[in-house]
Amino acid sequence: MASSTKYIFITGGVTSSLGKGIIASSLGKLLQSRGFSVTIQKFDPYLNIDPGTLNPYEHGECYVTDDGAETDLDLGHYERFLNVPTSQSNNITTGRIYNNVITKERKGEFLGKTVQVIPHITDEIKSNFYKLGEEGKYDVVITEIGGCVGDIESLPFIEAVRQARLDLGPNNFLVIHLTLIPYLKAAKELKTKPTQHSVKQLLEAGIQPDILVCRTEHHLPLEVKKKLALFCNVQLNSVIEAMDADTIYDVPLLMKKEKLDERVLSKLKLSSKSNSELEEWKEFLGKLKNPTQETTIGLIGKYVSLPDSYKSIIESFTHAGASIECQVNLKLISSEEINHENYETKLRGLDGILVAPGFGERGFEGKIETVKYAREHGIPFFGICLGMQVAVIEYCRNVLQLEGANSTEMDPYTPNPVIALMEEQKNVDQMGGTMRLGSYACELKKSSKAFAAYGKTKINERHRHRYEFNNHYLEQIENAGMIATGKNPETGLVEIVEIKNHPWFVGVQFHPEYKSTVLSPQPLFVKFIQAAVANKK
Ligand code: GLN
Repeated sequence: MASSTKYIFITGGVTSSLGKGIIASSLGKLLQSRGFSVTIQKFDPYLNIDPGTLNPYEHGECYVTDDGAETDLDLGHYERFLNVPTSQSNNITTGRIYNNVITKERKGEFLGKTVQVIPHITDEIKSNFYKLGEEGKYDVVITEIGGCVGDIESLPFIEAVRQARLDLGPNNFLVIHLTLIPYLKAAKELKTKPTQHSVKQLLEAGIQPDILVCRTEHHLPLEVKKKLALFCNVQLNSVIEAMDADTIYDVPLLMKKEKLDERVLSKLKLSSKSNSELEEWKEFLGKLKNPTQETTIGLIGKYVSLPDSYKSIIESFTHAGASIECQVNLKLISSEEINHENYETKLRGLDGILVAPGFGERGFEGKIETVKYAREHGIPFFGICLGMQVAVIEYCRNVLQLEGANSTEMDPYTPNPVIALMEEQKNVDQMGGTMRLGSYACELKKSSKAFAAYGKTKINERHRHRYEFNNHYLEQIENAGMIATGKNPETGLVEIVEIKNHPWFVGVQFHPEYKSTVLSPQPLFVKFIQAAVANKK
């Protein structure tokens, strides 16, 4: 296979949650800064076709791409670091691989043959490894293999990585193994044995890692590095220390200091095309770490006990806050715990209130109480997806006095379905990948807060929903002071609502958080934080 694209595979050992996604993103950033075009893809070992059908408690947030793929939250990190959009091709699961192979089998593409893990599943995995590289747009494709080496589930992926080395040739192929060096307090010692074992497992599978990236809470003394190099069969200068960082955004600079990018370039026989010193990135970090103002914002949702469920929203606050040197103290509050008796004590002291996306009835009435409080007290309010729908329902119930106003998601028999199932959703009987997904256009009214944020009338944002603003009620709602300030130009679907007589009350049907990156903070988040700061004063 002749290819000018270089492939880097990142595997994980010892435990999960070591931050492969952040290491992949950081390496990608460093390679970008040296003039290479980079994309990162993730291969997940589970059997779901995609994470769209997973509860956020299982797997954190479901991240949505422009092309409407429901993907792993690590793709969010890839975009936030690299500032380049990802797509369906950037996230493949075992479920999708098997689905593709079985579909081919039924079509008779393997007619007469026994269909097996090797070569049929591994061939399918490899063709997906190479897909983005073959587009010709990227100098480097980084592939993160989900899970841990040694997991039964990830075996076919690991086997495919072994085979990929033969396809690609030594200078086009590199394996980085991310591992943990635990510190035993009682013995005051850093232990290398778990890493030795996980590398042995890789070797048994026929893969020699080229570089070890070692997560650690303490600096690795030279002796420890030497031991790792010797037992794991890697060069001493390829044992890279990855100390715990204050923020994930420090990691590119830490990896640069450890010369991870230099090692990678030399092993892939690449020389830098340019060398930017990550000036903008450093400027962002400077602002992030030296805020000149602060504000307290409440994030009200039902999955708050696992903050990963709101990963992109949380990171959007980091990007937007840093851009105006504002420290955002985010308080995650469970909407299930908010009711008509306690809402004031629960919400007091918040300078701004965000009602989060979500599905289903649990915690819904707490969200209604929250919106009412924000609306009546002039507290800056930002509603995202379900949060926007709640804002409409609250307005219809309490301002328009529309009895029992609701979404048909919560009450299919409501007398006033102000939020209702979209027409195109009515015949949908499959759950996965069938919502209104991905990027759609929205046209803004010039007099709106949204226009003040974006500075233009035509925007595109990503979506993930089945229900929509019911346009039968539009005139009534607008006459009462809640204005549809953003609409889809083709369908007229209401994308944004705002309340006229309120300092900052914006509900959006789309998910602005998916497009926020370090280098381009999302404008609505910036304006919302500014409004919260102003409210505090
Ligand atoms: N449950 C709502 C819908 O399907 C909102 C979805 C969301 O918040 N992502 O329309």
